[in-house]
Formats: sequence, C-alpha cells, structure tokens
Amino acid sequence: MNRGCVSLGNVQCGGCHRIVAHSERYLIIEEDDTTLILCVDCSLNKGYAHYKEDKGERILTFFSEGVGGEV
Ligand SMILES: [Zn+2]
Repeated sequence: MNRGCVSLGNVQCGGCHRIVAHSERYLIIEEDDTTLILCVDCSLNKGYAHYKEDKGERILTFFSEGVGGEV
C-alpha cells in the first residue's frame, strides 16, 4: 500500500537517489517485503501522484494503490 509522508531530511528517493529535503513530501510504496521511497518528481513521473487544482491552488495528491483513493 502507498503512503504519503513528509520528509524529516533523512530520506533518499529510490528513483533519482536524491535526498528528499526537510518538509518536502514523498511517497512510500510497500509491496510484499520491499519498500520503495519516491520523491514528488518521481511520483509524478511514474503516475503515483498528480496535482489537483483547487480554488486556484495546486494541491499534490498521492494515489493509494488498489482502491484508487487518495492519500
Ligand atoms: Zn526522485
């Protein structure tokens, strides 16, 4: 299952391998016994997240696996 989190500055993206900056959001994807961490850019590139326009603001939304809901 996927979870959206906020970095404390000690998280590395599994896609582009950069450190996710403090207070930046990232996605945790848990599959069986593997855990993949993706930064916002990688989540967007891989289709795990999207921006939603709401009252003129762009809000980042992560997709949660299976149910098609939002985290
Ligand atoms: Zn990344």
